[in-house]
Parts: sequence; C-alpha cells; structure tokens
Amino acid sequence: MPATILDGHKIAAAIKEQVARQVCALAEAGTRPGLAIILAGEHPASSLYAGNKIKACRELGIYCEKFALPEAVPASELCQLVGELNQRDEIDGIIVELPLPPGLDRDAVLLAVDPRKDIDGFHPINVGLLATWRPGLAPCTAAGIMELLQRSHTPIAGAEAVIVGRSDIVGKPTAMLLLNRNATVTICHSQTRNLAEVCRRADILVAAIGKPGVIRREFVKPGATVIDVGINKVSDAGVFRDLFAGNRKREQEFAARGWVWSGDVHPEAAEVAGAMTPVPGGVGPLTIAMLMVNTVRACTMRRGSAVIREAAASSSGESRPC
Ligand code: NDP
Repeated sequence: MPATILDGHKIAAAIKEQVARQVCALAEAGTRPGLAIILAGEHPASSLYAGNKIKACRELGIYCEKFALPEAVPASELCQLVGELNQRDEIDGIIVELPLPPGLDRDAVLLAVDPRKDIDGFHPINVGLLATWRPGLAPCTAAGIMELLQRSHTPIAGAEAVIVGRSDIVGKPTAMLLLNRNATVTICHSQTRNLAEVCRRADILVAAIGKPGVIRREFVKPGATVIDVGINKVSDAGVFRDLFAGNRKREQEFAARGWVWSGDVHPEAAEVAGAMTPVPGGVGPLTIAMLMVNTVRACTMRRGSAVIREAAASSSGESRPC
C-alpha cells in the first residue's frame, strides 16, 4: 500500500489559524507582534521567500517591515540596522535573509541579532537553550517537522529517528527537538558508512541533504514515516527520468519549463514508507507557519506582561473575529 501523504499545506493552515487567534487576542491586550526582514542584494530565491513571509504576516495581522539593502552594503551599515531594530520595541523578530552577498560575514551579522528577536533560532544563545531544554526560539524548519509529526499522530517517544544531514539550520536542531521528545536519535552525514542500513533502522527518517533522490526504497523500513526536507531543482533529463519517469504530471511540468522540484527522497520510497511528505507541499509550508509562531512567541516572551501571556494562552480555543 503506498504511503499516506502528509499534507504540509493543511497542517500549516491549521497552525496559521491558531496564530491569527493569538494575534487577535494580543491586539485586544493592545499589542501587535512585529517582524523586520532584511534583504541584502538581489538573490531571487531570497526575494521570493521574503515576499512569502510578508504575505503571511499580512494574512495573520502581524506588522511587517522590509529593508532592501544594496548588494554592496558595508557590513557596518548592515550591523547598524540590526542594532537599531534590536532597540525598537515594536519589532519582535528580525530575519536576515541568507545567503548574504559575498564579502559579508554571515556569522557576524547573525550574532548581532538580539537573541530574543532571533526568530530563525540561529543565534548560539538559542542553540544553547535548545540543547539544554530551556525555553527559547527553535529554528523554524525543525520546529515545523515536529508539528508535522505531532499533528499526524506519529509516535515520537521511544521511536528510532534517523536524520540525514547535520546542518545548523535543519539537521542538528531537528535531532535536538526529537531527542527532547524522547526519540532515540542518529545523525548521518556525507561520511556515514552503510547509510542505507542505518536509515533502515528508522521509524522516523528525516532527509535534509540537498541532493535529489538520495533516499531510495532500500533505505526505508516498511511503515516508517519519512520527512523529506530537500528542495532541489532538477533540470538534468537523466536525473529527471530516474526520479519521475511515468509520472504524467511531472513529465508535463518538465516539458513545459525544463525543470521540476524534487526532494531528497526518491518517489519509489513511497512504496515502502507508511507516511511521507511530498515535495513541494510538505515541510516547506510549515517553515513559514513556524516563523509566524516564533514571531508571536518572541513577542510574548520579550514584551510578556501577564496580560499578554494570558491573551496568547486563552486564544488556543474557538476562533473569534478580530
Ligand atoms: P546543507 O548543505 O547545509 O547540509 C546538507 C547535509 O547533508 C550535510 O550535513 C551533508 O553532510 C549531508 N549530505 C550531503 N550529501 C550526503 C550524502 N550523499 N549522504 C549523506 N549525507 C549527505 O543543507 P541544509 O540542511 O541547509 O538543507 C538541506 C536541504 O533542505 C536542501 O535541499 C535545502 O534546500 C532544504 N531546505 C528546505 C527547507 C524547507 O523549508 N523545506 C528549509 C531549509 C532547507 P556533511 O556535513 O558531511 O557535508
């Protein structure tokens, strides 16, 4: 039986509804969460991601300000802007879109963000809070994966979880969050020996590799839940055929525009998995939804009077007009 498809759009919509209710409740308490997005240079994917975040803020009633800086912006100017945003009370979250233009030190810029406003969860302070099970801001894709697992009722405590990929943004924080939920966690990377064998142990298999179709049928334990984080643009005809030959919809897409999106998991894995996320439409939509969650969380944690905390907590019930 083919795997159940875990619909990221549906889960993201439910999360956003909750966030909208929290924003409403905060408005009644006289507070509006605010987000600042800094875009340096003209990276097309970053512009697209920034646009999606602004749209989500508008939908949910979160205040949003975008700062478009030239490609040649000096590091000092960028850090000064971050410093000003750190000081502004109505700004709860600061996002610096990556990658930065060449010559800018990514780590220095990310370190300049006030950890209380670091809604991407990249600051070492937030990494440390996550690693020591203290409340903080967790990276959005990893947090989205947890929501996806929990809302699809995937058992986590005691499960064998294997994560392929050890990046600071996805692999490591996902491992930490799963560990915090009492999974038995293994992290794999490009030097892991017998990758298929290690992956086959997993009840929960997370692929965050950045290469199309690495995880094949023989990597998957029958019935496992497979979370495909990868977003890869496939334009090579041979790679396309290996992944999608016989898939009419994908063939039409490829013929029309010369490329398609693919995850890190080969579609044949769906014949063995119990549940699997699609690409696109799996983990991707959750990343933005969790960014909104983190913005509201940053607001309530930093500006958190008892009134605000109560308003946010009480809003998890029925929907009401704002
Ligand atoms: P990175 O390039 O930072 O990390 C990739 C990891 O995969 C590394 O740890 C690398 O190992 C490992 N790896 C590479 N090749 C292999 C292999 N053949 N076998 C085993 N491990 C391998 O990527 P990210 O974590 O930033 O992103 C991963 C993917 O997720 C990308 O496709 C990215 O676009 C996507 N992504 C999707 C998001 C979403 O919202 N859906 C958000 C963020 C990322 P090593 O450390 O040894 O080099």
